Amino acid sequence: VIRWRRRSLTCQELVELVTDYTEGALPPAERRRFERHVAACAGCATYVEQMAAIPPLVRAAAQPSTGLPPEAELSLLHAFRSWHDERR
Ligand SMILES: [Zn+2]
Repeated sequence: VIRWRRRSLTCQELVELVTDYTEGALPPAERRRFERHVAACAGCATYVEQMAAIPPLVRAAAQPSTGLPPEAELSLLHAFRSWHDERR
């Protein structure tokens, strides 16, 4: 568990945590890992900025539990990842 907590986040993990981060729902240790990745990764920094700029109500409407099919969520993730890889 300690080893897991100490390794740095991958870009995909960051994408999965961004909603919790913008809502202040991450525990302090996770938050530090998140911020460390953002500080070192320009693509994720931009992504977090964009997510933080979306009003919470709009974000909530896009949650999978309220109707977005898993395939749509996956294609969003893939779109983000290819966008991200192009900028390395
Ligand atoms: Zn990243």
